[in-house]
Parts: sequence; C-alpha cells; structure tokens
Amino acid sequence: MDFFDKITKKASKAYKITADKTEKFAKDTKIKIKMNDLKQQINELYEEIGKKVYEKHIIGEEISIKNDLEEELTKIDVLADEIETLLNQSLDLNDKKQCKICSTLIGKDDKYCYNCGAKQEDENQTAQDNEDQMTIEEIKEDKDKTSLEKTVEVESHVNPDADGTIDIKDEGYDEDNEDEIDDEEN
Ligand SMILES: [Zn+2]
Repeated sequence: MDFFDKITKKASKAYKITADKTEKFAKDTKIKIKMNDLKQQINELYEEIGKKVYEKHIIGEEISIKNDLEEELTKIDVLADEIETLLNQSLDLNDKKQCKICSTLIGKDDKYCYNCGAKQEDENQTAQDNEDQMTIEEIKEDKDKTSLEKTVEVESHVNPDADGTIDIKDEGYDEDNEDEIDDEEN
C-alpha cells in the first residue's frame, strides 16, 4: 500500500507541475496575442500619421506635430506603455527580465547583466541595500575610530623612544661630520 501511495503522490505532483506549466503557457500566449494586437494598433496609427503628412505635402503646407498629430502620438504613447507592461508580465512568467541598460533578457533574480555587466537594481531590494550600505558605513566609521585611537596609543608609546633615537642619531651624525671635517683638514 505504501508503494502505491508513493506512486499516487508522485503522479499527482507531476500532474500539478504539468498543470502549472500549461496554465503559465496559456497565460503567456494570451499576453502575446494582446501584445500583437496593440502593436497592430500602433502600426495603424503610424499609417494615419503618414497619410496626414502626405496630404499636407500635396496641398503644400507644413505639418505641425502639436496641431495635426498630437492625438495619434498620444495614443501611441499609451499603447507603448501597455505593451511594455505586458512584456514584463510575460518575462515574469518565464522567470526572465530585461537588463535596464542594454535590454538583454536575463534571469529574473540575476543581480548583474551577463551582457553589459550592469547591476540590476531590484525596486524591492533597493531599500534593503541602502540599509545594508548604512550598516557597512557605520562599521567602517567604528573601524576608523578604533585605528585612530590605536595610532594615538602607539604614538604616545613611541614618542619617548623616538626622542632617544633622534638624540643618538644626532650625536652620531655630529661625530661623523667632525670626522669628515677632520679628514678634510688633514
Ligand atoms: Zn545589460
């Protein structure tokens, strides 16, 4: 019975994974169909713009982007935003994302782009990163203080010795000098 229980469990687990994959694929397909639809709408707007430009050319008038094309251009802006949102949804379903610098497709959790090397700032992680950096800076500050204190300590220990050394050196130097002078005189 145990054996059959295990097999049933394994089978239902495999079934669940397959079902999840199928659901993902169906969602992704829907997103891609919607994206294509939006791209088609943008192409139609491009056509409208082209027509308007040509009509102005026929009657020998300048075209004004502000007066003649603003409606079409605003529509394209909105459609492009929608496409980008859908693209990100599709990438997310496939555990991928676009590099923010070079747009290469990389893994969803990748910290760096394998193509251009750019660090991928995760919106959710930025706050955490800042906190981490603060902590590191605080630790550094503490370390600096400690080493400064150490330096002061070391200097105060060294000072008497250093004075002694300098005295000896000075004497030695003078003696040598006298010798040299003596040698020159002789
Ligand atoms: Zn990149």
